[in-house]
Amino acid sequence: MMEEYQGLTARQAEKRLLEHGENKIRSGKKASALKLFAGQFRDAMIMILLAATVVSALMGEYTEAMTIIAIVFVNALLGFFQEYRTERTLEKLGELSAPNAAVIRDGQIQSIPASMVVPGDIFCLKAGDRIPADGCVLGGDSLSCDESMLSGESIGVEKYAAPNPDAPQKANRVYMGATVTRGRAVCRATETGGATEMGKIADMLGTIEVQPTPLQKRLAHMGKIIGIACLVICLVVAVTGILRGEDPFNMLLTGISLAVAAIPEGLPAVVTIALALSVGRMVKRKALIRRLHAVETLGCADVICSDKTGTLTENRMTVKVLWTASGETEIGKRASSEPCSAMLLDIAVLCNNALLDTPAGRKDAFTTDGEPTEAALLIAAAKSGVFKKQLPYEPVKELPFDSARKMMSVCVRRKDGKYLLFTKGAPDLLLDRCTHYLSKNGVSLLTPAIKSQISQQNDALARRALRVLGFAYREADSAGDIREERLIFTGMAGMIDPPRKEAFDAVIKCREAGIRPVMITGDHAVTARAIAEELTIYQPGDRIMTGRELDKTSDEALTRMISNISVFARVTPAHKLRIVRALKKQGHTVAMTGDGVNDAPAVKEADIGVSMGITGTDVTKEASSVILLDDNFATLVAAVEEGRVIYRNIRKFIRYLFSCNIGEVVTMFFAMLMGMPVPLLPIQILLVNLATDGLPAIALGLEPPDKDVMRQRPRRANESVFSNGLGFTIVIRGLLIGLCTLGVFVSLIRSSGDLLTARTGALLALVLMQLIHVFECKSETKGLFSINPLNNLKLVGAVAVSAILMYLAIYNPVLGSIFRAVPLTGEQLRTVLTYCVFVPIVSGIILMIKNRASTHTVSSKSSHKTCPHPVK
Ligand code: ATP
Repeated sequence: MMEEYQGLTARQAEKRLLEHGENKIRSGKKASALKLFAGQFRDAMIMILLAATVVSALMGEYTEAMTIIAIVFVNALLGFFQEYRTERTLEKLGELSAPNAAVIRDGQIQSIPASMVVPGDIFCLKAGDRIPADGCVLGGDSLSCDESMLSGESIGVEKYAAPNPDAPQKANRVYMGATVTRGRAVCRATETGGATEMGKIADMLGTIEVQPTPLQKRLAHMGKIIGIACLVICLVVAVTGILRGEDPFNMLLTGISLAVAAIPEGLPAVVTIALALSVGRMVKRKALIRRLHAVETLGCADVICSDKTGTLTENRMTVKVLWTASGETEIGKRASSEPCSAMLLDIAVLCNNALLDTPAGRKDAFTTDGEPTEAALLIAAAKSGVFKKQLPYEPVKELPFDSARKMMSVCVRRKDGKYLLFTKGAPDLLLDRCTHYLSKNGVSLLTPAIKSQISQQNDALARRALRVLGFAYREADSAGDIREERLIFTGMAGMIDPPRKEAFDAVIKCREAGIRPVMITGDHAVTARAIAEELTIYQPGDRIMTGRELDKTSDEALTRMISNISVFARVTPAHKLRIVRALKKQGHTVAMTGDGVNDAPAVKEADIGVSMGITGTDVTKEASSVILLDDNFATLVAAVEEGRVIYRNIRKFIRYLFSCNIGEVVTMFFAMLMGMPVPLLPIQILLVNLATDGLPAIALGLEPPDKDVMRQRPRRANESVFSNGLGFTIVIRGLLIGLCTLGVFVSLIRSSGDLLTARTGALLALVLMQLIHVFECKSETKGLFSINPLNNLKLVGAVAVSAILMYLAIYNPVLGSIFRAVPLTGEQLRTVLTYCVFVPIVSGIILMIKNRASTHTVSSKSSHKTCPHPVK
């Protein structure tokens, strides 16, 4: 069908691209850099702080006011750079996941980004494609499109080749953004980009969804509650100070600075940054995230439902055996020597859309392009000397393969003018449509006994882990006679598709991580079982369920028995949806892969919808939240690992930020309650915030994976971020930091009698304790002395920057006078250090007691979180 089109030349296309621009619809949603920067000041507390600072400047506190403004500015810059990077990362990923288009240029089919399609381009469509531009149908078979994006109605709209391509009717036109639900076609692009019907409406394509993730929503909600609590405390601090005779304006500024420092208003943004960075890492491991929430959900996956062909196997098919009523034939034997095999090979090459090429000068080496199953058949036929071009048939109509029917047919015209229907497909289903069979004695009736013999032969091939295809034909009345019935069974082909090497380890990894792998395939149950056994997905005692059995099982019964089923075979995409629902009903967090157009609903329904980057259709890609760029099961497992790592890292910096903020509030609050002078001035509070909250927290989000991350059971999807005692740890640590800072303040006031010295000591102690604590936050189970402090150099760098900043603030005379800090004596430094090491020692002891207690519970109750043994 495509051979007759030349398409545009590369030069013509280039010229038209300049003339008409890229085939993109401008979204106008992109936030400008300035807007992003301005957004950093949107917080109410920052506005109040700036206003109060202006007032203090007017009152003569000029240097202090300038410093506060400078600190707020630096903080905003830090936030801006991170956010800018996040935006750009997500934007680039959006471009990566934008669809491609198959166009004919210079007489060759090429896959190009859909954005490069120009008016006049000839493009090819098949089921599952997103239509790249508005166009006119020139030729094709059974094309049906889903135009619900334009019309709102999701019934397939039939399309026909235009009798006059220059005056196409609606039924001859295809629209950008619509999807092909069935059939195939060749079209000519008439409009692109903004000129298309879609362009006139909106842009929804190729963008990554960045709506807040569940974790971000929960954190934002919690942040509000904590914010209100902080505000109340800050108010109490300010009012108590004023009542005790401190300068009211200073106390107000202190309260506001404390609020700015302690309220975790930036947390959702830091989480976005961490998630976006993780998305970048996943892409390096070949998993493309389309929806940010998937990063979070990936870490919760406890069942992975995977397709077999191409995901668990290599999708490199090689035909090993041909079987006909005359027995098995070796590949390569001249076809003409045996009439049944000859007919089988004729069907195999004509009922086929793959392309075969022989590189120049090499007679027996073939290259192919197209669907691997069909390509393997072309090679097998070529090895037997059968080539499409040399056969006396001309294809006239096609009924394309679809995964529900599991067969494909073409109607061909023979040289003598007679029509024949050639069909190939799953043998068990094909046999049901056959009434006769072909043997060396000619065509005979297909009796139940013969049918059963053929079925047994099919099973025997499948037991050898071969993927089996059946072939049949009949005479047809006309070019349009394409009903798959009354066929003559001709034979079968068995092909191998070896399991991917990486899949073996990935399955083991899954089991160690408490994740159950499930194979879902359109292939025969016996073939599926052979491969699943090899990969250890199927284990003794497991069940295999076929599509037919599924049809007879109610949803309730399926939900009850699903935990035992590790292989679903001969299923249709509709079955996949039922499987996802049953697993979800059982409380599982399900990742489900899909590629075909009909897989989209199941992929959408799954907690983590996964599509295939190479073989996947545009429709499934758009329904999915993760695209596996290499179609590989092991990549999905790697993405799950990344998902777990990032969640742990988010917990790490939440732990750090919250305990530090509590420490700051406790210092100020208790000092006020105890009737002491203010331990930290507004400018000092803001300095602590700058030195500790920004860089170190973000660096914690970049922690390398813990070794045991895939040896733990998955967390529950609704689990709180503070689960497993994290909330308690945070509060205790916050209290310890606050009380020790206060301890330093009191000791230095007593020993030196100088408020400036005491404040400097408190400032130094607070920052040092936080910078030590950041290393403790690297692990929830190991103490400071058991972790490797150097495995995240970004964190070491961030801490070094903060430490230098503090050193300068105290020991540089100019900065010292701005921050009201004075150099401390050796004795005073010793006091500060004693308090600083006291805290990690105390929390180390607490951790040890906690670990002992939990080991004890584990051994006595034998219920633990780690999975030392593979789980089923
Ligand atoms: P998975 O769902 O794991 O990717 P699969 O690729 O085997 O498995 P389908 O593509 O739905 O699933 O194929 C199901 C069956 O349909 C195959 O076992 C084969 O018998 C038949 N089949 C596959 N491809 C074709 C084709 N191009 N033409 C005719 N029949 C086919």
